[in-house]
Amino acid sequence: MNTGNNQPGFRDRTYKENEVDYMGQKQFVDVSGSLCVTHIGLEVLYILLGCFPMIIINIISILSYVVASGMAKKGKIQATIWIMITEVYLHVILASCFLGLNCGFHLWLFGSLTSIFIPFFMPNLSRKQKGQIAGISFVIICTFLILTILDDNGIMPTRYNVEPATARWLYYMNAILGFGSIMIYLGIYIAKMSAKSNELQIAADHDFLTGIYNRQRIQKILDAEVLRAQDVGDSNLIVAIVDIDFFKKINDNYGHIVGDEALKDLTQFFFQRLNEGLLFGRWGGEEFLLIAPENKNYDEFILMMEELRKQIEAHELICYGEHIRYTVSIGIAAYEKDMTVENLVNLADDRLYQAKETGRNKTVY
Ligand code: GH3
Ligand code: MG
Ligand code: MG
Repeated sequence: MNTGNNQPGFRDRTYKENEVDYMGQKQFVDVSGSLCVTHIGLEVLYILLGCFPMIIINIISILSYVVASGMAKKGKIQATIWIMITEVYLHVILASCFLGLNCGFHLWLFGSLTSIFIPFFMPNLSRKQKGQIAGISFVIICTFLILTILDDNGIMPTRYNVEPATARWLYYMNAILGFGSIMIYLGIYIAKMSAKSNELQIAADHDFLTGIYNRQRIQKILDAEVLRAQDVGDSNLIVAIVDIDFFKKINDNYGHIVGDEALKDLTQFFFQRLNEGLLFGRWGGEEFLLIAPENKNYDEFILMMEELRKQIEAHELICYGEHIRYTVSIGIAAYEKDMTVENLVNLADDRLYQAKETGRNKTVY
């Protein structure tokens, strides 16, 4: 059987991990668009300076950014990057040669180097990609040094002498644009990375199905609460484990999708108590760990859990045309001196077990 990737309907099944799009298609469209506008401004400048070669070269630059932004819009990011790198590099060299280093066009090389070298630290880059980045960075640094050495020795083939005062202003402009491009680039990069990192943190902390805290997160919260209870001494740390009764039957009778809906449905009862300070997370399949609000004492929390249990008992879930009723069993335990997290959870679990053993749909404390 031919499974080549030229087959219609072929699906790429190489699911790479940690692929971070630090610069997306939109950013490349924006960057090439703004560089195009910058070069339109430069065109006016070259005309005012009467530098004929740069007038022509800059028209080529403008056209290359029109092409680059077209490529970016089509999602051809590699081609966009190559056009931009080549354009900046050649433009800088030619402008430096024709107008002299005192106009500061070589300062753009700092911006290019930043944008090219930062991705070097991205995970999962191939050796070839790393080699390319290192090679181009090396060429840029050498170019900067060669231009400086040529200028220092007065052997820069400068053809158009720019008035010193004008050259100063050009130097300021190029410094602002060159360093500004570094700031914009780093800004975009850091904003993207922070957004990605937030997104990953949220995904790492939440249960995919119900959207509430997952076991890892609620466990961390509980660890912190127990540490605090150990420090404070007379703390008021109470936990409950809530487990749906005969949940397997819901799955067996109505299917897994309905079972999933029931799990989501149950979490709505927890969310209703979020403002009261209830903390909760998915502990296992159809088991949830709840941490009592700080201001509730043991008796008050038992009442809260009983009210929750009764509400669930009285409630009917209508899902995919089915009318479903379910109940929960609850085990409650309060922290006592010298307990570990495990002791506390085990005690709540034992009580949940008792609730199951003695008929379900009840709270044991
Ligand atoms: P008990 O009253 O003793 O708690 O009985 P039970 O049927 O609720 O408990 P049991 O441990 O026998 O079965 C739990 C079931 O929960 C088995 C498993 O397939 C199901 N389950 C676990 N996670 C999920 C899930 O994410 N979605 C669905 N639909 N079912 C799940
Ligand atoms: Mg169960
Ligand atoms: Mg269970």
